[in-house]
Amino acid sequence: MNGPDRKTTRYVVAGGGSAGWITAAILAHFLPPDAASIILVESEEIGIIGVGEATVPLLGQLNALLGIHEPDFVAATNGTFKLGIEFVDWGEKGNRHFHGFGDFGEDIDGLAPHQHWLRLNKTGAIPPLGEWSMPWAAGRRDRFAPPQAMKGEAAQFSYAYHFDAALYAGFLRRLAEAKGVKRVEGRIIDAERDGETGLVSHLTLDGGHRIDGDIFVDCTGFASLLLGKTLGVPYRDWSEWLPCDRAAAVPSSRAGRLTPFTRATALPAGWRWRIPLQSRTGNGHVYASRFLSDDEAVAQLLTGLDGEQLAEPRLLRFTPGRRDRFWEGNVIAIGLAAGFLEPLESTAIQLIQTGAARIVEYLPSGRPDAALAAEYNRQTALEYERIRDFIIAHYCRSRRTEPLWREVATMDLPETLAHKLAVWSACGRVPLYELESHQEASWVSILIGQGIIPNSHNPRADALPESKVRTILEQRRMFLAQAAGRMPAHDYFISRTCSAREMA
Ligand SMILES: Cc1cc2nc3c(=O)[nH]c(=O)nc-3n(C[C@H](O)[C@H](O)[C@H](O)COP(=O)(O)OP(=O)(O)OC[C@H]3O[C@@H](n4cnc5c(N)ncnc54)[C@H](O)[C@@H]3O)c2cc1C
Repeated sequence: MNGPDRKTTRYVVAGGGSAGWITAAILAHFLPPDAASIILVESEEIGIIGVGEATVPLLGQLNALLGIHEPDFVAATNGTFKLGIEFVDWGEKGNRHFHGFGDFGEDIDGLAPHQHWLRLNKTGAIPPLGEWSMPWAAGRRDRFAPPQAMKGEAAQFSYAYHFDAALYAGFLRRLAEAKGVKRVEGRIIDAERDGETGLVSHLTLDGGHRIDGDIFVDCTGFASLLLGKTLGVPYRDWSEWLPCDRAAAVPSSRAGRLTPFTRATALPAGWRWRIPLQSRTGNGHVYASRFLSDDEAVAQLLTGLDGEQLAEPRLLRFTPGRRDRFWEGNVIAIGLAAGFLEPLESTAIQLIQTGAARIVEYLPSGRPDAALAAEYNRQTALEYERIRDFIIAHYCRSRRTEPLWREVATMDLPETLAHKLAVWSACGRVPLYELESHQEASWVSILIGQGIIPNSHNPRADALPESKVRTILEQRRMFLAQAAGRMPAHDYFISRTCSAREMA
């Protein structure tokens, strides 16, 4: 049956990168098979972007929801575990700090631990705040165990994964196909719109094959074929705040012990990533082309490798920002087709997950609705903006002296971020808005980690005798260090539970 009486909604997912396959898997999982048919079109000839190897803990929730067995997933994707990100040379050269997936422990006398740390920091020497982060206690020792293997405060953290992007796409494809998603191979050359409604009615593939649908999910990557090209939804360019617009990526052979964290090292015109996988290391240099040539960027990337270079470097160009709207008519864009923020906090796959979940939430009947589209767009825009602000916060108070860093240190900030930083500066608290991905502990770890110390802390922290606070903090610090010392080495944990070699 065709037309409005048809009971099954035909979802067409255009594109088979991480965005396409995650979206297809989520739709197939949540939508009853008799209410939805899901077709995914992708072109092997065009391929996928093939970067995107570090994640945030939300991925574990998706895996659990989709019934993915963690050891199988990690082994199949050459994966490793990630407790957070080590930042090197951010704020100023020589600085090191860690953004772990966890907080700094329970409140003391009703106040967050960092308030007490700020008080003690004023009066005398105190170890870096990161010493009260369980992820860092484990990460700095190259150790890993899941929180369920730990006890008390040592169990209060979460974790994410690093994986091989190409293997991940294949893994997702097998999963989604097993859930009933039908894959069509071919290059989309046209998207036809209905003359009356303006809705997209079908895609035409190279060779003439036609794919009809009711809802089209645009996962065509930076091409944004449906939302951007066909519907002409404009792109909001955020380069005034995020000047990096290029990346060079290269794999190198594995060197030394497996670190259970991503490393992000600030460089004169950007920063480099280091992502440890079981058999190799992923490296990349994200930079601002206004301040550095491609050749120089590649040279800096190759100079800093800690293993043997395994391939020619790949160059990628991007414009930081987002589409004005994500859902227009019967098209919803997910992934790079919807927007892109530099991968400093590994948030792109998270945005794919939340975008796809939002489709299920706001399109339950499979019929486009203006009010639901508006709500989808409102929430998604906020989510992008919150992450944007968090990433800008890594740059905007830097004391580095190279031209890029001087420029970002004096730029006008988005109002939402300027307000946050003003409150932080006045009292050491971070006001959180609707749809924040990063909670206060994450902001605190970035701000204090970079040496952005507020003028004042909460005066209630002064109520406790200083010696008592020192004792509590020292006991906690020792407890975390000892707990981390009892964890297995990250390498060993992987070799025992999810070795990629066992799968080969
Ligand atoms: C330098 C860099 C580093 C990154 N690092 C991270 C990270 O560490 N963590 C993270 O979460 N994210 C990261 N990302 C983002 C991440 O790579 C993407 O969000 C993720 O891979 C999803 O990409 P995608 O599926 O939207 O696009 P793509 O992978 O580009 O997929 C697009 C799909 O559309 C298909 N397609 C396009 N045009 C057509 C057509 N005409 N016909 C048919 N099919 C078509 C392609 O074949 C492909 O299947 C990074 C991105 C960049 C640029």
